Amino acid sequence: MPCPICDDTGWKTTDVNGVERVTRCECWHQRSFESLLKQARIPRRYTHCELSNFDAHTDSQRDALRRATRLVDQFPVVERGLLFYGDNGVGKTHLAVALMKEAIRRKGARAVFFETRDLLKLVRDTYNNQVEATELDVLRPVLEADLLVLDDIGAEKKSSWVEETLGLVVNTRYSERRATVFTTNLSDSDNTDPNSIALQLGLRIRSRLKEMCDWVRIDGPDTREVGPHPSHQDIARWQESSPASPKNRARAALPPRSAGQARAQLKTREQDGKADLKWPGGRAGSQ
Ligand SMILES: [Zn+2]
Repeated sequence: MPCPICDDTGWKTTDVNGVERVTRCECWHQRSFESLLKQARIPRRYTHCELSNFDAHTDSQRDALRRATRLVDQFPVVERGLLFYGDNGVGKTHLAVALMKEAIRRKGARAVFFETRDLLKLVRDTYNNQVEATELDVLRPVLEADLLVLDDIGAEKKSSWVEETLGLVVNTRYSERRATVFTTNLSDSDNTDPNSIALQLGLRIRSRLKEMCDWVRIDGPDTREVGPHPSHQDIARWQESSPASPKNRARAALPPRSAGQARAQLKTREQDGKADLKWPGGRAGSQ
């Protein structure tokens, strides 16, 4: 059925103070959004992610949400991208996908999402003669997108080829001044820590990432364990019982990586009964 407003021309006339103006019809915006969204390659498990449904339980999550929103507001004039780092399930990928969708919706951004491991596999597959695509076919949209989300960087097995390939992506986007959002489970500790960005990605990439991105550490409960919308009781229970909670990890005396989180403790505030999570600043249930 053709659009009742524009008869599928994509243009409509509106009356602005008695003057007839021709503007894009809503159906055109909708079609354009859907087509850009399709090209963005967002995995199905993240298609529900919006800035408006991001659950922020801690100060660092609220700060990360503010920064994500600001990047969309400023887009496409973005001086620096974002690098979200922190443990599993704290919302890094949710925020990255959500800001990307918002930039597509509000700014018509040509954006693309890649899980780093998938991207490297696609590039590697092009070396196989059975595959027709060239390395450049795979990398072009990654290098040229207005906005790139590179998810879970550093999860892949370390090798000089990986470092070189990621270095190419990072350096090209840096020199072309294109906005990139990274997420990683790695920490920013020194290069003796096997889980550090310095060791896993190399000092050169780390230094470039520092130049091109604001680094945003996100702390919070693992929503894969506590569910998508935990109450503060759920979070308190998780904090007490999950082996992955900062409290229990500290107790298990894991390697230096968890030292910073060892201070995380839970105590019930007497005044309002809300749980005080003692993240580096954050209170469950507060708005
Ligand atoms: Zn229309």
